Amino acid sequence: MRRRSNIVYWMEDNLYLNITNRCSNSCYFCFRHYWKGIEGFNLRLTQEPSVADIIKELEKYLFRRPWKEVVFCGFGEPLMRLDCVLEISRWLRKRSNLPIRVNTNGHGCLLNPNRDVLKLLKEAGVTSLSVSLNAHDEYSYDLICRPIFKQAYESVLEFIKKAKDLFDVEVTTVTIPEVDISKVSDLTLRLNVKFRLRPYIQCFY
Ligand code: SF4
Repeated sequence: MRRRSNIVYWMEDNLYLNITNRCSNSCYFCFRHYWKGIEGFNLRLTQEPSVADIIKELEKYLFRRPWKEVVFCGFGEPLMRLDCVLEISRWLRKRSNLPIRVNTNGHGCLLNPNRDVLKLLKEAGVTSLSVSLNAHDEYSYDLICRPIFKQAYESVLEFIKKAKDLFDVEVTTVTIPEVDISKVSDLTLRLNVKFRLRPYIQCFY
């Protein structure tokens, strides 16, 4: 594990941006509670990087390989820093045609009231959203994800419904026993969005 915090990291052909460690959920399974990072990258930030810090790191790595995608995804919820996501996406769009994905808990509108979050992301050049919905109803969502907002589950569903008109959207769920996977799968069929299961990485100590 690297000692220095990593703002930019990579896995396979994707380049990832770890811009915050803050999140409006506190999912019990979240591996940031147990691990320092992933694949040898240290995702524990000692402080949130400025836009200039992120660009400095991106300049080092953006053209190092033919990446498939740039993904906002780290040890936190990227849309806690909407303006940062927008600025970095605009910066990327001027330099490359790479798809830009935001991996999000779907709280974008709750976190940024009075802003047209989805339209802003679209205009900045974001191409897809991956929304983690690790529950099949509000009760299980509150139990598993422990959101800071009331009625967060309904808001995430609204976020998905609106997002699919503008973006390529997938919904993901971690394979934990509390989630009725078939119900989530049915829900995504009704919402007409892609569905992907993610493995549960257990803590072994
Ligand atoms: S939404 Fe993601 S980053 Fe936030 S606590 Fe849950 S798993 Fe962790």
